[in-house]
Amino acid sequence: MHPICVTCGVQFAETGESPAACPICTDERQFVGWEGQRWTTLRDLQQSHGVVVREEDAGLVGVGIEPQFAIGQRGLLVRSVGGNVLWDCMSLIDEASLRAIKAQGGVDAIAISHPHFYGAMVEWGRAFGGVPIYLHGDDRAWVMRSDQAIVYWNGDEREIAPGLTLIRCGGHFAGSAVLHWAGGADGRGALLTGDTIQVVRDRRHVSFMRSYPNLVPLAAATVRRIAERVMPLRFERIFGGWFDLAIRHDAKAALRRSAERYLQALREDPA
Ligand SMILES: [Zn+2]
Ligand SMILES: [Zn+2]
Repeated sequence: MHPICVTCGVQFAETGESPAACPICTDERQFVGWEGQRWTTLRDLQQSHGVVVREEDAGLVGVGIEPQFAIGQRGLLVRSVGGNVLWDCMSLIDEASLRAIKAQGGVDAIAISHPHFYGAMVEWGRAFGGVPIYLHGDDRAWVMRSDQAIVYWNGDEREIAPGLTLIRCGGHFAGSAVLHWAGGADGRGALLTGDTIQVVRDRRHVSFMRSYPNLVPLAAATVRRIAERVMPLRFERIFGGWFDLAIRHDAKAALRRSAERYLQALREDPA
């Protein structure tokens, strides 16, 4: 059996007995479920939950779980000329979603922003013929089910297909990354950010945190560095890690504004 943590949704390596704890949830960025550590399996999830596959934008398909499970993120299938990339992952894959995604051209590679969204990445990769799974090498210690399909990349940039480039921003996790899609937003460019750069509820700003559930902010220098990594890129839209959390117009200005606001808040004297 490959246990899946009910709180973070990450699938673990084969084991006869469920692990005592989930290292991702006992980390200060997450939390252990209030009823204590609980586990499920892919087979049980297939009985209780379904996969939603929904168009988000031209050439961009959202993939999420219904009803909401664990952190509740949704992945994004980028359908680009250089191949189809699944950005971020989920805990559940089933027959219907496999069919729906195959109808969209399938998946040629998987890339994931950070460990909270690893989900059942090995199951997803194998369902599409063992495609490469790009993870940043700085987050290697958080991989709970290793696999030969995992490609650890290092440094600050990695082009995984023509016009699709992973950018390491750090902050939330050391290897936290975003995906720049040059051909997104009808050729004006899109940034797929997970929660490396979090689109917030007003959908006109983003934020940057070490921990979202526990509200642990980042240092000024880190926020500045994240903004500096992505500001040279061309993009009109930002798609965050959840359904409907996107900035559809002038996202670059929104990012600049948000970073300035954050830095200003850290500077202000709390008189
Ligand atoms: Zn967990
Ligand atoms: Zn996270």
